Amino acid sequence: MAMNFIGKHKVTAALLLIALSLAVRSERVLAFQSNSAPRNKLIVTSEPEVIVNGSPCLFRVKSRKPLRSLSGEWQGRDVFFDFDARDGAWYGFAGVGIDVAAGRQRLRLEATTTTGAQISYIYPIRVGRAKYPIAHLGVPHQFTEPDDETLARIKEEQALKKDAFARVTPSRLWSGRFAAPIDSVITNEFGIRRTFNRKVQSVHQGLDLRADTGTPVGAMNSGVVIVAREMFFEGGFVVIDHGQGLLTLYMHLSEIKAHEGDSVAKRQIIGLSGGTGRATAPHLHTGVRWQGIYIDPATLLRMQLP
Ligand SMILES: [Zn+2]
Repeated sequence: MAMNFIGKHKVTAALLLIALSLAVRSERVLAFQSNSAPRNKLIVTSEPEVIVNGSPCLFRVKSRKPLRSLSGEWQGRDVFFDFDARDGAWYGFAGVGIDVAAGRQRLRLEATTTTGAQISYIYPIRVGRAKYPIAHLGVPHQFTEPDDETLARIKEEQALKKDAFARVTPSRLWSGRFAAPIDSVITNEFGIRRTFNRKVQSVHQGLDLRADTGTPVGAMNSGVVIVAREMFFEGGFVVIDHGQGLLTLYMHLSEIKAHEGDSVAKRQIIGLSGGTGRATAPHLHTGVRWQGIYIDPATLLRMQLP
């Protein structure tokens, strides 16, 4: 039986309201429908919600149809997605370089459904602009000329770092939130540009935490130790590979308590802080890299991760 006139209008109005609210909420979803049928929609969200230059980011993809595989491309790099059965979503880690200009960037997604269908999407993501502080130096940084022996050592270590930093493990070795390596205060933020005569002398590529020599330093998340040795600039240096192209770095350690190749758990002690290498005073310098890009460790530590 047909409903009466008023009833019909009420239903229409209600449907319109639902449609409007859905349209607002799914604006980002509708924006990337490209060459696939709408029923194959992938729903993409990110953590943090607002991504800026220098920021790490986690892409979360949900699909109506079950997927066999999902891969992505972002900033010319592969994004490795991992299925999380707990909430039926795919998670991929990525980052934005500190020099990337604000604007719209593309996340390309390639999925294969369990029935073998291919889905391609281009998802637009706005990258906002973060302003990093500038520190004007009264005097330029003095670089003392290293002797030949030191120069050879620096070269050798540069090659070793290049090799380690190129490491990309597709699978996810991290799990849950990243933990601060020590419980302390920040003494030097990520992204600070030190300038002299309006020329940038250096950009701080990590986060400094106050630490007296001998403070136990914990792994920020689970992973595999790929560097654990003394270096000229970094001093006692540890690098952990967390998978999906994500690495964490720990510098100026007075003692290293991990070996290259070790699997480590989150918060496992990997060394003691110190002031070794090129450090003016004891502190812990931590860095985070994603496929050749330095990203802000403070943002990573704030992120809600599965
Ligand atoms: Zn530092």
